[in-house]
Amino acid sequence: MARYTRPVPADAHLDPRSRRARTEPMAVAPLGSGRYAVATEHGSYLVDAREHRCTCPDHTFRDERCKHLRRVAIEITEGAVPPPSHVAVGCAVCGSTTFVHPDGPEPHLCDQHALRRGDLATDRETGATVLVVGVSPRRADEVRIESHDCTVAEYETNRAYPPDDPVVTAVFPAGAEFDDGTTPDSLRVYSFPVSRLRRVDPDQH
Ligand SMILES: [Zn+2]
Ligand SMILES: [Zn+2]
Repeated sequence: MARYTRPVPADAHLDPRSRRARTEPMAVAPLGSGRYAVATEHGSYLVDAREHRCTCPDHTFRDERCKHLRRVAIEITEGAVPPPSHVAVGCAVCGSTTFVHPDGPEPHLCDQHALRRGDLATDRETGATVLVVGVSPRRADEVRIESHDCTVAEYETNRAYPPDDPVVTAVFPAGAEFDDGTTPDSLRVYSFPVSRLRRVDPDQH
């Protein structure tokens, strides 16, 4: 049933309880609403990370911060399980697990695919840098480009991208030029399937 995660190497400087929290084989499974099931070789316990409670005897009778509470905190810090306020969902582009707030804006995107209003991104087709002005939960095969009487997914240069990609709207900065020598209308908003754009990492400048 439970899949045990590989223990983290012991740190000699940690107190014994912290060391056990890191090194003992435990499987942590998020249950939602800040609760986690922790399976150990000695039994399974329920941790409530919001209320800082655990059902183990150590916590119940001695009212101490037990190794299960500590292990849940460690796994949250390391990104192995979602924090109490978040849920695990699949990225709308690649499907990889990402932790989001349940009331957060859609589409849910992993760090690699996340684009937000105000981000600069590179258009993979033209190499141009665009400024993101909106991220829509609607799919490329649902959004129509009125001027071309087709959907974003059907548009010629978008056909290599997944039709269920969320649509991102962006503008070309003034002075941009396509490789055929024409210039984009800098006031016009263009729609892209999200995976056609790659976020420009501001740290790389
Ligand atoms: Zn416990
Ligand atoms: Zn992704």
